[in-house]
Amino acid sequence: MLLRPRFTPPYLSQLQAAVRRLPSEHPARPAVEQELYRTSSGDYGERRMDYYYQFLPDEVTLLHQVQLPSPITSSSFQMDTLLLHPQFTAILEIKHQRGSLHLMPETGQMKQLSSGEVYGYTCPVQQVRQQEVQLRAYAETCGYTNPILTHVFFTHSSVYFDTAADATPLPVSRPIMLSSIVKQWLQETASIPPQTEALQRLQKKMLTESTSHWCILDKFQLTPSDFLVGVWCTSCSRLSMRRRYSTWQCSSCGIKQAQAHVEALRDFHFLHPFPFRSDQLQRWMRLTNQRAARRLAAPFLVKKAGTYVYRFNF
Ligand SMILES: [Zn+2]
Repeated sequence: MLLRPRFTPPYLSQLQAAVRRLPSEHPARPAVEQELYRTSSGDYGERRMDYYYQFLPDEVTLLHQVQLPSPITSSSFQMDTLLLHPQFTAILEIKHQRGSLHLMPETGQMKQLSSGEVYGYTCPVQQVRQQEVQLRAYAETCGYTNPILTHVFFTHSSVYFDTAADATPLPVSRPIMLSSIVKQWLQETASIPPQTEALQRLQKKMLTESTSHWCILDKFQLTPSDFLVGVWCTSCSRLSMRRRYSTWQCSSCGIKQAQAHVEALRDFHFLHPFPFRSDQLQRWMRLTNQRAARRLAAPFLVKKAGTYVYRFNF
């Protein structure tokens, strides 16, 4: 059963919007582009797991992209996929690196050899163990004390785990092993009394508290004034649309597009903190008055009763 369906993570949408609107010479652009590449690759890897989830027993529930307030730190912690069962809960960390990977949990490192280059990363086995500690503390507040298990899946078809023959096996696999691993977890926890009611409380709490807000403005120290303003022309890929006679017309190629502002509003939504004012929307779309900005945004706005505090419902 899929309790929290997969969707494009807002963080990925924020990065895509930032790359569309950061000037080419902006100093933060290389770092944002690199982060977009890394995040897109991770999202693609998670979608490749979907095929293998179909082979899991019906009583298993899946939650994707769960971000919860940490009971240990003052921030939040994020998990790619949670697999819930009355006997146990499992955190699945999904990676999409290619090449030869050497995992070193004892030092917290992972070495990747790909196309003759060597790259270093944080060891995902340690990453997921840290999530486990936080989820355990979170679950205990709902009375759920059954085992919390972890596993890392590497989804790229060209990946190879470089481990010594005598090394302790690591909780790391390709996706094809998922159903066998779950079967093994069910056998190992068969003697543990199921905590059905506590699990329901935990699920309900996670669905209520899980957020997807992760603002790239803070991460890359950007403000809305760093971004290019205007409405895109999809024909000539320029911010050259102008509002004329209740439609948009490109000042460069002349094409008319009635709904051109929708993409501009989405970019504003992902790159501008809320609440916001209508003069900020007006500037973003290069309109001549605030009333036009409010009218164009109205179908997508949620207005708090009695105030001029807006947010989008994209
Ligand atoms: Zn154009």
